[in-house]
Amino acid sequence: MRKQVIAGNWKMNKTHSEANEFVQATKNEVPSASAVESIVCAPFPFLQKMVEETKGTSLEIGAQNMHFEESGAFTGEVSPVMLKELGVTYVVLGHSERREIFEETDEVVNKKVHAAFNHGLTPIVCVGETLDQREADQTMDHVKSQVKKALEGLTVEQISNTIIAYEPIWAIGTGRTATSEQANEVCTHIRKVVGEFASTEAGEAVRIQYGGSVKPANVDELLSQSDIDGALVGGASLEADSFLKLVEAGKHE
Ligand code: PGA
Repeated sequence: MRKQVIAGNWKMNKTHSEANEFVQATKNEVPSASAVESIVCAPFPFLQKMVEETKGTSLEIGAQNMHFEESGAFTGEVSPVMLKELGVTYVVLGHSERREIFEETDEVVNKKVHAAFNHGLTPIVCVGETLDQREADQTMDHVKSQVKKALEGLTVEQISNTIIAYEPIWAIGTGRTATSEQANEVCTHIRKVVGEFASTEAGEAVRIQYGGSVKPANVDELLSQSDIDGALVGGASLEADSFLKLVEAGKHE
């Protein structure tokens, strides 16, 4: 059985002290790591302290982005080497806000996914369609293309260890969640794409999250779907109580 993976994506929110309050309230309350993977992807300035504070607990810390180069003249960027050195274990890559606002292309996302594996970080790769694409019936083709381009050149083992987050852009931060059937339909499709692209085993092993207005009230229904192995959560991951309810929902007994 694939282990559920619940990741909070704080985006550009919280102060240092608020981040610390959250960590103190959650680090000893999340279920054991053998039952569910519980991750918080926080802004760069908070990562070091969060990693230190959560050592020995089941709460894992991730970043929300990184550059693909190890070092160099890239003002304002953060490298995979830096994240690894801090003890960060996951990194969100290709979030739709990075793609739309910061113009990250599929090629850049692919380079970042390679860099993550080269430095021992687990990538959470985001894909998803716009409302226009959904209405034009292009969802499946678009998502297929994003998945294939993101995974290009990886080994089958790396693909098996990738986490893919299906996030329909029209459902992010809008309160408009995809129905569990809509979400599962695309996640099933992604699993098939990975199966054909890499191997049947990789398709079975790869974990696929749903993201887009996930909250305690709808998480059970989404996680009960056959091909949804977790959630990537923005707004509802910001409060400790709400985050704890989400990770609890992901727990396998
Ligand atoms: P949301 O964000 O849960 O606030 O919709 C999800 C995301 O952008 O990852």
